[in-house]
Amino acid sequence: MAIITRARKARKATAISQQAEEASVFGEAINYFDAAAASLDLNPNVTRILKHPSRQVIISIPFQLDNGDLEVFTGYRVQYSFARGPAKGGVRYHPGVSLDEVTALAFWMTWKCAVVDLPFGGAKGGVTCDPTKLSVNELERLTRRYAAEIIEIIGPDKDVPAPDVGTNPQTMAWIMDTVSMHHRAHTPGVVTGKPLCIGGSRGRVEATGRGVTIAIEAALEKMGKSLAGATVVVQGFGNVGSITAKLLAERGAKIVGIGDQFTGLSNKGGIDITAAIAHLSATTNKRRSLEGLAGSEQTTNSDLLELPCDILVPAALEDQLTQDNAANIKAYLIAEGANGPTTPAADRMLTEGGVTIIPDILANAGGVTVSYFEWAQDRMGYYWRESEVNDKLRDVLRENFDAVWETARSHKTSLRTAAYMVAIRRVIDSLTTRGIYA
Ligand code: NAD
Repeated sequence: MAIITRARKARKATAISQQAEEASVFGEAINYFDAAAASLDLNPNVTRILKHPSRQVIISIPFQLDNGDLEVFTGYRVQYSFARGPAKGGVRYHPGVSLDEVTALAFWMTWKCAVVDLPFGGAKGGVTCDPTKLSVNELERLTRRYAAEIIEIIGPDKDVPAPDVGTNPQTMAWIMDTVSMHHRAHTPGVVTGKPLCIGGSRGRVEATGRGVTIAIEAALEKMGKSLAGATVVVQGFGNVGSITAKLLAERGAKIVGIGDQFTGLSNKGGIDITAAIAHLSATTNKRRSLEGLAGSEQTTNSDLLELPCDILVPAALEDQLTQDNAANIKAYLIAEGANGPTTPAADRMLTEGGVTIIPDILANAGGVTVSYFEWAQDRMGYYWRESEVNDKLRDVLRENFDAVWETARSHKTSLRTAAYMVAIRRVIDSLTTRGIYA
């Protein structure tokens, strides 16, 4: 068996990581924290603690390719905070994954769990790889080895991973099985976003998109506007983007633009979202792309974001709305399905231009909320009906959306700053009540 040193590939991966480092996603994320902290008159000692991740783990993951060779990828798990409970956050498989990105994502998870008042801290994990280039068997071996490498630090009372970009319920099933085998104990609560047959929750697959839809409806209600007939562009057509587009279309919105990493599509008359989802399911090649969907004009990913529309839902990756395109955005409402899609500079330009932005930590919190329900059901061994899950999700999101909206109104600030204010207050309450073991 040969161990491959794919120098060129490694150099490319490093170049991607270095770009991420230079831009520092975590550095940008901290900007949002600082803006909210300034309005809260925080104790500087507590602020210092909150600006540091509790634990960052980097691992090498050797695994066997189908041709018998061994490949080694780099993986991460960052546990940002345990103040409110076990750490919680997804696992991302993508070529751009870096320690900086995973740290930023773990940071956002901390505030996301707190803004919807869940008893979790924040975490995130990832492997720098291109899952579209790996077979199912290779993905399984990679996932099992990744799980085995972080087995001491994950668990229902420690840290609970879930799917993110490039991973899915099957990935969670492999992690759950690997942990259960090592512990010699059935451990469904170690991950959420699992398939139903092994302790997943009804409604989890749709939960993030459903949450984005609930947040959009809540914002429109507050703004005195209607979803029926509103035009919508959705960037990213994976779990979050496709479900959001489907649910918004079902509620009368007209989806005039959708896109994935390979193509963008537009149609002023409205795109048939059911057909788009069916097109992806029928795609046999591993790209599972919207390419080739009939009945729409092709556009680029960047043009997609600038299409005329009322509501824009970035649901792909971070840093999509930047100072280069912010002035060209036509939407009056942006709902951040993705984590960190708007840079601080773009956020300022858009907010000053009168655009309402429902921030990621609130807009896409539906997924982690139903993950919390899944974790609770796994611990009880008692599973709920889908209608019960969806009703509870709506209650949690509406109640906390209202709290954020009211904070924004009373402090005359953006929804983003208000969401961080609500979340930071809750984390600090837990932290200071427990006391700092210093
Ligand atoms: P996914 O892998 O299912 O889909 C990602 C989509 O984005 C795909 O359509 C992909 O083609 C597209 N994409 C990737 N790179 C792109 C690029 N450069 N330009 C345009 N499109 C691109 O992932 P997902 O689970 O839908 O997650 C999307 C975003 O939502 C991520 O930021 C993730 O962190 C966030 N999020 C996901 C969940 C969840 O429950 N899945 C929860 C909260 C937040």
